[in-house]
Amino acid sequence: MSSFFDYNLFQVLNPKKKENIYLIEANKIRKTLKKLSNIKNIKKIEAELKNNPSATLKVIENNCIFAIVPNKINNKFHNIIIKLFDKLNINCDCIIDTTYLDETKINIIIELFILRSFRLTKFKTLEKPNKPIDLQLRSFGKKIKYSSFKEVKQLADSVNKARRLSNTPANLLTPTMLATQIKKILSDKCYVEILNEKQMCEKKMNGVLAVGQGSSEESKVVIVKYNGTNNQTKPIVLVGKGVTFDSGGISLKRPTNMGLMKTDMTGSAVVTAIIDYISRTKLPINVIGLMGLVENMPGSGAYKPGDVITMMNGRTVEVKNTDAEGRMVLADLLYYASSFNPEYVIDYATLTGATAFITEYMAAPIFSNNDKLIEEFQIAGQEVGEEVLSIPLYQECKDLTKSEIADYKNAEYSCRAGTLMAASYLSNFVQNGTSWVHMDIASTNNKNYRCSYNINSSTCFGIRLTIKMILNQLEKSNYN
Ligand SMILES: [Zn+2]
Repeated sequence: MSSFFDYNLFQVLNPKKKENIYLIEANKIRKTLKKLSNIKNIKKIEAELKNNPSATLKVIENNCIFAIVPNKINNKFHNIIIKLFDKLNINCDCIIDTTYLDETKINIIIELFILRSFRLTKFKTLEKPNKPIDLQLRSFGKKIKYSSFKEVKQLADSVNKARRLSNTPANLLTPTMLATQIKKILSDKCYVEILNEKQMCEKKMNGVLAVGQGSSEESKVVIVKYNGTNNQTKPIVLVGKGVTFDSGGISLKRPTNMGLMKTDMTGSAVVTAIIDYISRTKLPINVIGLMGLVENMPGSGAYKPGDVITMMNGRTVEVKNTDAEGRMVLADLLYYASSFNPEYVIDYATLTGATAFITEYMAAPIFSNNDKLIEEFQIAGQEVGEEVLSIPLYQECKDLTKSEIADYKNAEYSCRAGTLMAASYLSNFVQNGTSWVHMDIASTNNKNYRCSYNINSSTCFGIRLTIKMILNQLEKSNYN
């Protein structure tokens, strides 16, 4: 245990505010209570915990809080830990008794604690930043082996880097500034190339360029390469939507909550954080990141409804709605992704507000042409508390993306399933034979997300999920 105290996170407790929290696995209630010397009325507490699940997280005796956690790691486990931190309001120091928890569960607690403590205080000049809260893990009566603190801390730090970017206002994070920030985060471990508009023009990335036309800010495409293994191994390609501000363009959004559109670049922050973690922990894989950074504004040069754009792959798109800009950006990058001969491609985007009509704030809809990847995401989602819901890509919906005057159109007003429509449109730009997953994080990137550890608006959903999925894949390949 002493090694914990080498890190600032674990400092000496404030004894005045001490609360003891006991996480007890559902099938070990009596066994655990018996071990706790400060608990006298074991039978009564046991009955209360067993018969009344809402008794969890209640202070029952001696300033003790009990939380019954499932034996298996799943979303419920994460949810209980988050509720626990909510209850503590993260304004008091706490001890967590880890006696009956394995390393995986301890990892989750530390990870969520660091994530939950995140605050963006940079723009408040009148308030003093909060004093850091101390979490102490204690193990009574048994020595625990614990070795993964470094990785857990790295993961939470990578997620927090993304959240810092995502919550930064658009006047302080233009496409150029975002590109610079991404380079700053990744360049010591990865090769980072920033394309300007002239270079994008040469590559015919006209979908990306069209969206940025109405803004005085120059659009950028960032290409990141991390080589963790030999050159023959196919890379995983991660594509991120990076709309630094989405006014909707000529199809202007309503003013309510338009300010939240500063977070419309979260897909690119998610990609940055995933590669940050992979490169800093030196995972033996090859990864490429492609991020399209643009500002969608209704300036005089803006692309307009009715315009026809010739995309990077040579296909034409009729613009029906300039607010359906994310898919214009992603379409070019998904086509470009295929040129790297990828193992598979994943794209992350706050693409459609309609996601909330499918899952409220419970899970992120995913679409894929590869059933194995869907299953791997579902398993990893339970392990990290970031659930996904797989939705099929119906041929009938794909047919709806066809335009009368061009090859495709970027929106179809008669279609009520906006999330499905966007995914169907994107599938037109994925090359045959390329395994691909599209993750729409529009509603799970919200602080109302079910397992949210958030105070500020963005959760940056998808980072922990993807890293877990990749770690699971690596573990499997080692056994084969
Ligand atoms: Zn939009």
